[in-house]
Amino acid sequence: MKEDSLIVVTVNKAGFEYDIHSLVKAFYPACDVKVTAEESEESSSPGLPDLNIMFEKEAVLISLAGGEGGTASFAARKVEIAEDMPRVEIKNRLKQLIYVTLAEHTGKHLPWGTLTGIRPTKIPMTMLENGASDKEILTYMQETYFAGEEKSALALEIAKREKTLLDTLHYEDGYSLYIGIPFCPTTCLYCSFTSYPIVSWKKRIGEYLEALEKEIDFVAECYGDKVLDTIYIGGGTPTTLEAEELERLLCKIRKTLDLSNLKEFTVEAGRADSITADKLKVLKKYGVNRISVNPQTMKQQTLDLIGRRHTVEQVKEAFRMAREAGFNNINMDLILGLPGEEAADVRNTITEIEKLGPDSLTVHSLAIKRASKLSQWIQENGISALHNTDETMQIAGEGAERMGMVPYYLYRQKNMSGNFENVGYAKEGCFGLYNILIMEEKQTIVALGAGSISKRVYTDGRIERCDSVKDVSLYIEKIDEMIERKKQLLADC
Ligand code: SF4
Repeated sequence: MKEDSLIVVTVNKAGFEYDIHSLVKAFYPACDVKVTAEESEESSSPGLPDLNIMFEKEAVLISLAGGEGGTASFAARKVEIAEDMPRVEIKNRLKQLIYVTLAEHTGKHLPWGTLTGIRPTKIPMTMLENGASDKEILTYMQETYFAGEEKSALALEIAKREKTLLDTLHYEDGYSLYIGIPFCPTTCLYCSFTSYPIVSWKKRIGEYLEALEKEIDFVAECYGDKVLDTIYIGGGTPTTLEAEELERLLCKIRKTLDLSNLKEFTVEAGRADSITADKLKVLKKYGVNRISVNPQTMKQQTLDLIGRRHTVEQVKEAFRMAREAGFNNINMDLILGLPGEEAADVRNTITEIEKLGPDSLTVHSLAIKRASKLSQWIQENGISALHNTDETMQIAGEGAERMGMVPYYLYRQKNMSGNFENVGYAKEGCFGLYNILIMEEKQTIVALGAGSISKRVYTDGRIERCDSVKDVSLYIEKIDEMIERKKQLLADC
């Protein structure tokens, strides 16, 4: 079944297009949504409503037209606004108006209500920092954003845990380091990261490492007086590098940076088809204390379909090798809502994972990225083959609980299957600090490698970013320019 559909939204005032787009898209994840501030000849595909939003002096009005059999036609709804109202208040009211209208029209309720941003825990976190009580936070989340009771409580629980963990870090005189290795054994169906097949780059890994080494020297020079709290080597799949290449990189880090205060050193081993005993030995030797072995699913048919080209048995073997190598903080990533998977498949995956007994589990809801091959797959097979439901989320959450884990970080992505969230669960003492930092944006992260994004967090909460080019050849060629960009971002800290 091909699901080719468009929803057109016209709005007579510029500035809210992004907010409107993300909320309408949350109700219609399989459709393209076009928000236009201009008179448009275009209209929504048959069966889908046209939305019209009108800003007046003291109100915003919304009307729907079209829909299946013209069912969407009804009188306009409105919400009051005032000229001197802050933008954020107008935005909240506008989103409430759209939400109520589309919830009535579709019969759907979104678990996170009008919240479409990727960091819902920032709301309870900020309120906690300002001394709000649990009750005030929950009421605010439910009344302002229409977030469900369960999701509001989850966000609050996580924000409290994060706050305790982050209080141990050096916000002002510290930083974290990210190093990206943008190579993978093959490309997964749903991938939207900077990742290139390793076979095509084997001969140039030396040049890539050389560029990274220049960046590491720059970090030592620029941030030598700062406390390095966490390191995260991700990608891509860092373990696509050979053992000697990993050794070269880790040795450079150890020789160049002061690791005496390091609280966490993660390497995302990720794909089971890239993990060997030799590589694990190198990681251990250089002080890596947290790794990921990511199955995504323990159903072979799905692994084949999503292009991971490794077996369930390889995942189990990689996990066993990691334990044998002495790793006592191993994370596993799962994705719910993968093509063709039902609740029974998720139950089976969780059972298999429980047998292995990881220390943390990150449960992702499948996100449909335009740039991924999954987008094309949906065009051909229909979105109805993707099921992520309250039930599957619950199966995963209960499995984590049985393994003695609690939720400790949470984020959302655009176009997530079922409009749910990604949740990191971990046993006490195995929380991934870097993951929390990425979400709560409390500390500067210096990011090295092609496609990486550095983020400077100022003491007043302001955030500035700078990125490196995604193209590996360009990154190597323009490494001095990449460093110069970072130098400017991090100046006078
Ligand atoms: S392992 Fe991760 S980065 Fe690599 S192709 Fe798959 S999704 Fe992309």
